Order: sequence, then structure tokens, then C-alpha cells
Amino acid sequence: MLKNKTAIVTGSTSGIGLGIAQKLAGEGCNIVINGFGDKDAIEKERAGIEKNYGVKCAYLGADISKPAEVEKMIQDTEKTFGAVDILVNNAGIQFVAPIEEFPLDKWDAILATNLSASFYTIKYALAGMKKKKSGRIINIASAHGLVASSEKAGYVAAKHGLVGLTKVVALEAANHGDITCNAICPGWVLTPLVEKQIKDNAAKEGKSEADAKAEMLSEKQAVHEFATPEQIAGLVVYLCSESAKSITGTTLSIDNGWTCQ
Ligand code: NAD
Repeated sequence: MLKNKTAIVTGSTSGIGLGIAQKLAGEGCNIVINGFGDKDAIEKERAGIEKNYGVKCAYLGADISKPAEVEKMIQDTEKTFGAVDILVNNAGIQFVAPIEEFPLDKWDAILATNLSASFYTIKYALAGMKKKKSGRIINIASAHGLVASSEKAGYVAAKHGLVGLTKVVALEAANHGDITCNAICPGWVLTPLVEKQIKDNAAKEGKSEADAKAEMLSEKQAVHEFATPEQIAGLVVYLCSESAKSITGTTLSIDNGWTCQ
């Protein structure tokens, strides 16, 4: 379905981003993977995507919290593949602490990675999409882009900001051909980002990781299950399709009943 298109997926060396990169490649899309991690593991992932799906895959290691690195990543993608047809803003980080104890550098890092980075990627990629009169921008926000939890000031503020940015981009891209911008709002997905929170909660409250995990699910979600990266990726593929052409400027939840309560 996405043959001859090119997608950048930020933060695709792990978790949800990795699932999205693989699913888009499965649809025939060339992929730029991005994110931190072990050099050999990243090369294995890149080569695996090319071999398993018969597409081209490049790794660009931009730190997306840095605008100059993001600008170069977009330019390099346009030079190598001709265009950025699909932009998935997925990279994100978390830190949990009460506001009085929330370190200033953690606040700055979360805002830079979870919000400003998407402004940078969109700022540098949108001109190419407008010129081509087509494009798909998908921001991986969170249930925390719609509702709050205590001790997550940076994350909740950034994700609410990302939902706002999504709406502005949808308005500015409107009537420039077929360009849409939407936000996906997942509930709990079992990735390294969440595994750390489970470990921390278990240690803090002196309980087993299995109990901490069960509590995390039942505290927030109607359905006590994790969504999977593959499910999030399935929605990304749908949003890239012709059928989703009229969906823009909105949020789509995959949250096992978190935000309906
Ligand atoms: P993860 O920790 O498994 O992956 C995060 C990715 O982002 C990694 O590839 C990491 O290298 C990359 N990254 C971090 N900082 C970066 C930077 N400055 N530059 C480039 N890459 C950077 O996390 P995940 O759970 O897969 O999260 C992916 C996205 O989904 C995040 O935006 C997160 O907020 C969001 N999300 C996750 C959940 C969940 O339950 N896991 C729920 C809702 C939303």
C-alpha cells in the first residue's frame, strides 16, 4: 500500500517506534530509523528491515531535541529518498517526581524531546509535503495528552502540548493537497519506558514487579491489558492510507478504556 513512499520514524530503535518502522516497511515503505542505542543492534535492525521487507532502510542518529540535527536529518532523507512522505514523531522520555522535587534539567529534557522535537521535524518537513501536495504526520502523544496523572508534570505538559501542535499543523496543512496531521494517544504499552516505571514502583512500594504491573493497569484502564506496539503501528498504517484522508487534526486513543472513564 505504501510502495515508493518514505517514512521517518523518530525513536525507532526501541518499543513502539520499532513496531511502527517494521509495520510501515511491511507495507513497502522505505524507512529512516532514528534513536539511541547500541551501534551493532541498530545496524542489525536496519539490515533486518531491508532483508525482511525488501525496502530501503537508513539509520540517521539525530538527537531530535537539537534543531540543527533534526534539520540535517530531514535534508538527508530528502536527498537520499527524494521526499519525506510520512513523518512519525514517536521518540519520547519519561521522568516521575512531585513538582517540588522535579529536577529542572529533567523538565527541560522532557519538553525538548516530547514536544519541541516534533515542532522541529514538522517545521523542516512540511515545506516538502506542501510542494508534493501530500503527506502524513502522525504524532505519538499519550493518554497523558488528554488527561493527567500526578508526578508526571513534564510528560503530561509536553503531551498536551503535542496534541495542541497537532491541531495547528492540521490547520496550516489544510487545502495544500492531501496532507493530514493527527495524534495517537496510547494507554499502557509494555516497552522499556514503562518497564522502568514498573521496576521503580515495585522498589518504592516493596512489592513484586508482577503486583506493580497489575496495579498500574487496574489503576488507569478499564481493560487490564497492555496494548502492543503492533496495534499502535496498525493505526499508523491506517492513518497513512487513502481511507484516512479526511481524518486530520484529531486524537485517536488506543488506551484500553483509560480516558472513557
Ligand atoms: P522506549 O523507551 O521504548 O523508546 C523511546 C525511543 O525514543 C528510543 O528509540 C530512544 O532511543 C528514542 N529517543 C529518546 N530520546 C531521543 C532523542 N533525544 N533523540 C532521538 N531519539 C530519542 O519508549 P516507548 O514506550 O516505545 O515510547 C515511544 C513513544 O510512545 C513515546 O513518545 C512515549 O511517550 C509514547 N507512549 C508510550 C506509552 C507506553 O505505555 N509505552 C504510552 C503512551 C505513549
